[in-house]
Amino acid sequence: MKKEGRRRLRVVLVPAPFQGHINPMLQLGSILHSNGFSITVVHAQYNSPKPSSHPDFSFLSLPDTSTDHKMSRGDELVPFVWQLNAKCKVRFRECLADQVKMSRQQDKTDDEIACIIYDEAMYFSEETAKDLNLPSIILRTGSASHFFTRSALVQLIKTEGHIPFLESKSHEPISELYPLRFKDLPHSIFKNIDKLLQIESEASENKTYSAIIHNTTVCLENSSLAKIQQQCQVPIFSIGPMHKIASASSSSLWEEDNSCLAWLDKQSCNSVIYVSLGSLAFMDAKELVEMAWGLANSQQPFLWVVRPGSVHGAEWIEILAKCFKENIEERGYIVKWAPQKKVLAHDAVGGFLSNCGWNSTLESICEGIPMICRPCFGDQGVNARYVSHIWKMGLELESELERGKIEKAVRRLLVDEEGKEMRKRAKNLKDIVELCTREGGSSNNSLKELIEMIMSF
Ligand code: UDP
Repeated sequence: MKKEGRRRLRVVLVPAPFQGHINPMLQLGSILHSNGFSITVVHAQYNSPKPSSHPDFSFLSLPDTSTDHKMSRGDELVPFVWQLNAKCKVRFRECLADQVKMSRQQDKTDDEIACIIYDEAMYFSEETAKDLNLPSIILRTGSASHFFTRSALVQLIKTEGHIPFLESKSHEPISELYPLRFKDLPHSIFKNIDKLLQIESEASENKTYSAIIHNTTVCLENSSLAKIQQQCQVPIFSIGPMHKIASASSSSLWEEDNSCLAWLDKQSCNSVIYVSLGSLAFMDAKELVEMAWGLANSQQPFLWVVRPGSVHGAEWIEILAKCFKENIEERGYIVKWAPQKKVLAHDAVGGFLSNCGWNSTLESICEGIPMICRPCFGDQGVNARYVSHIWKMGLELESELERGKIEKAVRRLLVDEEGKEMRKRAKNLKDIVELCTREGGSSNNSLKELIEMIMSF
């Protein structure tokens, strides 16, 4: 797609500082870079991305935007995002004004900034783009279905003044939002509704963005994407799953423990349950112990990621008794952080017990791996419902974490006939999604249109 002799345009990316947001933004950067754009990543001093993993990009760190705030619960996310935007706003304007001035002064046409692509959560970027006369595009890193659900809820709260669903009916389906139940909704919204409405109003004051990018594909989320497009004046480009289009470089904030790949080599095909609750979820000590024994009792080999600091009151897994470690012997392997995409692509992995973050969900779909869904907060409940009820490639692990339920869920997925059917559907979905990213597929076409738009700015 790169046209020889044509000027090189620069795209400025503003990722939100969370693993599940950094990954798709840097994947988008790789995709654009391989299509002839130069890339500058402007980031806060919190969970900063590693420049060494992306030597082709320039990185600019916004001064005085560090925070020692440690999140220990999902519902702390909305206030955190609000604070982060307040901190970054002025610094971003200064930084970008300098960049624009420099590029114009030195008349470096190859360095000219074409546009800013910012994570939806970094909405402070829009005002600066407008002031500096730069086009902007939003990247949404969650599922389109979650976005649609969230905006429908916010709209309902605005018009009805309250949440029109009853906690007491938490298991009943909500007909307007099939296949969701009250319990699947992003509950942190309700806990932080005032802050969220404030964010909404701050973000909508400056609505001048030219397009929205979703890391999804029409073959997964056609209906949600169509509904979003109906409500939206600007084009929506669904160009996912971006990790399948981008080059393979990792943007992990933690060091990946590759030793688990050698352990996987020793396991038989489709036998291993891979367990990870992502980069933000926490559990208490009791849940860790229940998970440990549930996995051990399933008698299936397991690869388990326990992020250091993710168990309340513990550093890592020191609270697991010696008898547990002796009991599992070679059957279990525990790491602090895994090379997840490689793990899911390994023949030995037969299932994924996941928090259903959107990246993990896409990564599992792309490898045809069925899932045990254990959503924690945010978009995960919505994603879990789509995995189990729309794509039918997984089962839900609901209510309290308890060893008997975990053992049963692992065996249903890896041993029972039901699990084999889910695997077949997952493999079928993998093939369908793969076609979308190939030449002539919907994501590939959407990417071409996005590139044309950026070139035309
Ligand atoms: N991930 C990883 N190693 C791990 C666990 C997770 O590389 O041990 C990656 C995973 O591949 C995904 C991201 O971290 O790309 C997590 O994002 P997701 O949206 O799935 O969930 P979140 O962490 O935001 O809840």
